[in-house]
Amino acid sequence: MSTQETRTRIVWDYAPAPESPEHVRLRDSYGLFIDGDFRDPLDGTRVPSINPASEEPLAEVAFAGEEDLRRAVESARAAQPGWAGLSGLERGKYLFRIARLIQERARELAIVESMDGGKPIRESRDVDVPLAAAHFFHYAGWADKLSYGVGGRDAVPHGVAAQIVPWNFPLLMAAWKLAPALACGNTAVLKPAETTPLTALFLAEICQEAELPPGVVQIVPGDGSAGAALVRQPGIDKVAFTGSTAVGKDIQAALAGRGISLTLELGGKSANVIFEDAALDQAVEGIVNGIFFNQGHVCCAGSRLLIQESVADVVIGKLWERMGRLRVGDPLDKNTDVGAINSREQLTRIQELVSAGEEEGAVRRSVVCELPERGWWFAPTIFTEVAPAHRIAVEEIFGPVVSVLTFRTQAEAIQKANNSAYGLAAGIWTDKGAKAFEVASALQAGVVWQNTYNHFDPTAAFGGYKESGFGREGGPAGLRPYLKVS
Ligand code: NDP
Repeated sequence: MSTQETRTRIVWDYAPAPESPEHVRLRDSYGLFIDGDFRDPLDGTRVPSINPASEEPLAEVAFAGEEDLRRAVESARAAQPGWAGLSGLERGKYLFRIARLIQERARELAIVESMDGGKPIRESRDVDVPLAAAHFFHYAGWADKLSYGVGGRDAVPHGVAAQIVPWNFPLLMAAWKLAPALACGNTAVLKPAETTPLTALFLAEICQEAELPPGVVQIVPGDGSAGAALVRQPGIDKVAFTGSTAVGKDIQAALAGRGISLTLELGGKSANVIFEDAALDQAVEGIVNGIFFNQGHVCCAGSRLLIQESVADVVIGKLWERMGRLRVGDPLDKNTDVGAINSREQLTRIQELVSAGEEEGAVRRSVVCELPERGWWFAPTIFTEVAPAHRIAVEEIFGPVVSVLTFRTQAEAIQKANNSAYGLAAGIWTDKGAKAFEVASALQAGVVWQNTYNHFDPTAAFGGYKESGFGREGGPAGLRPYLKVS
């Protein structure tokens, strides 16, 4: 079932404020970054990377084949002893350089991230790029203090890390993976997602500018088959993956019995729990940030909104009113709140799950807004009358769609929040500190935010329980997956 309600009347609006892509140094074509240089694929292909807001090609990108991946792993293998042999202080200097170069090219990186992935420039400029630099800064600081990060024990790197990242935070996820791996003395082969390879290739240029020794980092774009082939390559010692649970399970099966260390950061269906004593206006901002940030393409998105029954009508009313003021459109416009959906496939997936929600009897409301003619878009959407068994309450939609459930007591809130195969993140909104701690300790979630949501910091560990994966990224805990500790 669905209702169409006119969006909140906007009595004034911002004038367009598009960021100019003029000064972006985008090449026509990118090779595979192997052994310190961009190289033509041996048995791979070349594929255009598409702007999801315009469906226009941005640049042609080499996709790795089997032979290319073999070469990339060999190059990483050859470079690893030398890299691990450097003192931590020296490795740290390279990471500091990369961090500073990310800052120097921040504007360009933000524009390319928004053009390649569809996210609003405000987010790539204020979140993705600064956090990517912050991760390199953070792990640069750890490089000469590794044993302090693992309880004073002796630690050595695994060797060659194969790293696979998704399309929702292309640069940031590359930083999350590369910075700790390199700090610990591993070398890396990183596969960006098929639809968003460009900022990882910019990062390859930055590695060159930082004069990182050849072979320490390889960037090999490719599709899912390249990811599958990479984790099956001989000569890798560690796999780190962020993406869907289905692919995570496939990788786990591929590594079984090979003695390869694995970190999985998978999907989520995170509960954002609003108690009646919360500051409701702030909570509404947190709900919006929790689900509409990056069009909901966020593994820890607060996609299951649990509201205490006594305030449900008020919160839903305020939320709907706030949703009506979200500006959907050109990702490069500095006033845009919700950008383009990353790919046609993802749009289809969102549409399919939203239809399932309607068919199962939940009530859908989508903001009525003008969407650009070209590109892939989905209007902010809320589902009420959701039952815990509905697909929209169970499956990861990965789009700007929030499903609302209600609860009466604290115990019911905890039970419903934990009623998920996933366990990545949760939010708690209350003005009672003791209640927040009590609920947080009962939630099966790797990250619990109190009176905020989607707050990231390189010093804090991030990772999941249950089908959301295992291993931690960020902070000293993020060193552990890249070290063999004696
Ligand atoms: P995937 O898990 O397929 O993609 C993540 C990364 O893994 C990409 O680089 C992808 O390459 C690669 N990959 C795909 N298949 C394999 C394989 N068999 N072995 C190794 N690597 C592989 O996510 P999708 O892009 O298909 O998105 C599907 C759904 O997954 C989304 O709707 C969302 O629900 C969820 N998802 C969750 C993410 C998270 O952060 N938790 C991130 C992305 C998606 P390629 O891009 O070329 O396919």
